[in-house]
Amino acid sequence: MNQNETRRTRIPTFEETVTFHGHACPGLALGYRVAVAAMNRLCAVRAEDEDLVAIVENDACGVDAVQYVCGCTFGKGNLIFRDYGKHVYTVFNRTTGKGVRIYAEAPETVESGTAVLARKTDRTADEQTAVEEGRKRRIEWLMSLEEPDLLRIDGVCEPPPARARIHAAYRCPVCGERMMETRCRAIGARTLCVPCAQQLG
Ligand SMILES: [Zn+2]
Ligand SMILES: [Zn+2]
Repeated sequence: MNQNETRRTRIPTFEETVTFHGHACPGLALGYRVAVAAMNRLCAVRAEDEDLVAIVENDACGVDAVQYVCGCTFGKGNLIFRDYGKHVYTVFNRTTGKGVRIYAEAPETVESGTAVLARKTDRTADEQTAVEEGRKRRIEWLMSLEEPDLLRIDGVCEPPPARARIHAAYRCPVCGERMMETRCRAIGARTLCVPCAQQLG
């Protein structure tokens, strides 16, 4: 099996996802479960280009799992953020036209005691240890739950979002920096960038 085939058939492990994110946390574990469920439902391979596109409804830890496992990133234009503050992730496979909407909810049971401690700002060493152990147990628990106990998975009727487009560039006459045409602001007779328009407007 050559390197390319390996990359296209294997879903990254949780440990690899932790390395990408920078720490292990319950939010990442939840996002990982979502990302793996989406990949399995869509029979997908990681998006080396724009085959997959994800719409995420929060900008917290779990989104990093979607970026890493599904290969949907801001830079490639196949990660779309809707600021609804919900654990909802809609992932499309453009090749097959299939999409899934996944709602994730982690039941608040096992570590409610340490959750209170985690919100305390001046924790003692013992309390800190309790928080870390509680977090570790919660991650293990989230990873062990059956999918239906954690995720609600529905099909999607809407078509996938349009592909990212390359926009023309204009130069702001005030700061002299280039900007995307879709972000220009008209102030009087001039076309300015957003920060200059905010300063002068
Ligand atoms: Zn995190
Ligand atoms: Zn400017």
